[in-house]
Amino acid sequence: MFCPRCSQQQTSDEVRFCPRCGFQLNFVAELIPNNGVVVTREAEPQKKPARLRRKGVRLGAKLIVLSAFLLPLAVALSVNFDSPIPFWVPFIIFLLGLAQAVYTLLFGKHDL
Ligand SMILES: [Zn+2]
Repeated sequence: MFCPRCSQQQTSDEVRFCPRCGFQLNFVAELIPNNGVVVTREAEPQKKPARLRRKGVRLGAKLIVLSAFLLPLAVALSVNFDSPIPFWVPFIIFLLGLAQAVYTLLFGKHDL
């Protein structure tokens, strides 16, 4: 990267100021990957509910996956202790994940 004011070559693209003339380079560094287009962040808050909803669904999916991983362990424990109680743990996690995903899908929609 070169300084737009004095054409001094910069050692790194992450420098904030030109060491020769003091020109601010952090904006220039932002323009380069966007082909000189100034990045506006106005559209971001509108996208937030959709992103939050996706996050909630992903959390639910993670809980369902976790319960699937715990299921063989729970079955082994149930057989070992001759009791169905360990089997309830992944079942409850699965229900929580499912409830989380369904809740986010149903109630997250009203925010848009
Ligand atoms: Zn300069």
